Amino acid sequence: MSNAPPQHAPLVQFAVQDDCLQIGGMALTRLAQRVGSTPFYAYDREKISARIASLRRHLPQGVLLHYAMKANPMPALVQHVAGLVDGLDVASKGEMRVALDTAVPPDKISFAGPGKREHELRSAIAAGVMLNVESAQELETVAQLGMSLGITPRVALRVNPDFELKSSGMKMGGGPKPFGIDAECVPDVLKRLAALELDFTGFHIFSGSQNLHAAALQEAHERTVQLAIRLADHAPGPVRLLNIGGGFGVPYFPGEQALNLAAIGENLQRLVPEVQRHLPGARIALELGRYIVAEAGIYVCRVLERKISRGQVFLITDGGLHHHLAASGNLGQVIRKNYPVVIGNKVRGAEREVVSVVGPLCTPLDILADRLPLAKAAAGDLVVVLQSGAYGLTASPVAFLSHPAPVEVLV
Ligand SMILES: *Cc1c(COP(=O)(O)O)cnc(C)c1O
Repeated sequence: MSNAPPQHAPLVQFAVQDDCLQIGGMALTRLAQRVGSTPFYAYDREKISARIASLRRHLPQGVLLHYAMKANPMPALVQHVAGLVDGLDVASKGEMRVALDTAVPPDKISFAGPGKREHELRSAIAAGVMLNVESAQELETVAQLGMSLGITPRVALRVNPDFELKSSGMKMGGGPKPFGIDAECVPDVLKRLAALELDFTGFHIFSGSQNLHAAALQEAHERTVQLAIRLADHAPGPVRLLNIGGGFGVPYFPGEQALNLAAIGENLQRLVPEVQRHLPGARIALELGRYIVAEAGIYVCRVLERKISRGQVFLITDGGLHHHLAASGNLGQVIRKNYPVVIGNKVRGAEREVVSVVGPLCTPLDILADRLPLAKAAAGDLVVVLQSGAYGLTASPVAFLSHPAPVEVLV
């Protein structure tokens, strides 16, 4: 038995040529010239397409694939994804505007999230977007707004399930939650729904994010389907759509392994006929964010200075937590762990050393890598944070310390 510390999953999604990372069909050094400034995010459209193709191969034919835009709402990227998926899920009016600019028809766009404002609901109803209703009060507001607009709103009920998704990075359901309507209250809300001028389409049940355990996701899918079948007995009409959420994880940290997609697909293959038997005509939809885009994106910053403090080497870069909060460990991590990081123009490098990569912010939280073995780097070299296509820029406090925002490119 070796006591070697766990390693990051090997770098496989991007080719390396002459020791330089390749992205979007070109060397990273050339892309940096093309972009013209650092830091920047780059998203590889071909990798996104390949990921969606892999999902299509593993998922049963009848299962709809939606993209949850909050993972990465860059308009050009959303346009690209829109052509490859069956629908878009938005969580604000801003995201809805981007979604409505794509060719995805409004009835394939759903709007979830607690605390939707009246102006957001009114826009969504006018657009013909489906509302995932998060509370009994929201249901009343939607019905009133529909009446005042002379439009019958399309609604699904978001259910806070009576179970949790095990081993999930972030739990979105089970126990007391601000999301959705508690499963035990749903029958009463459905009774009320029947009395209102609303077009009931089905249920939305999302239990958690960043899950790498196929068995946990299989169990959640199974319990989600069982819950929907039970609740459907109380529905005012047939369930047409059962949105079972997203939450497929990607490996970020040492020791983590890619999700077993085949196992999840096989389990869904078994659940599709079960849904057909109990809820004839209902379609299952998955709404994935992270899994579709995370591995296709990188964050690139430049080394400004190699500095030694009391024997420890620091690479001080022009990028940091203000652009990439998740990589700094400050977005939901309990114990800080390193994202996979490489020196993009010296991936293997002639010499290697253990370094800490930090940003220009005056806070000890501004760390992109903590004592990680990397190729020996100098000022001008490019630091690349991998697995950065999801919950990157728009999940970061860009205004913190008033540095300029990074560029984003789709290549
Ligand atoms: C964030 C979110 C998703 C996407 O979650 P991922 O873990 O990125 O797949 C899906 N549905 C809803 C309602 C969300 O809020």
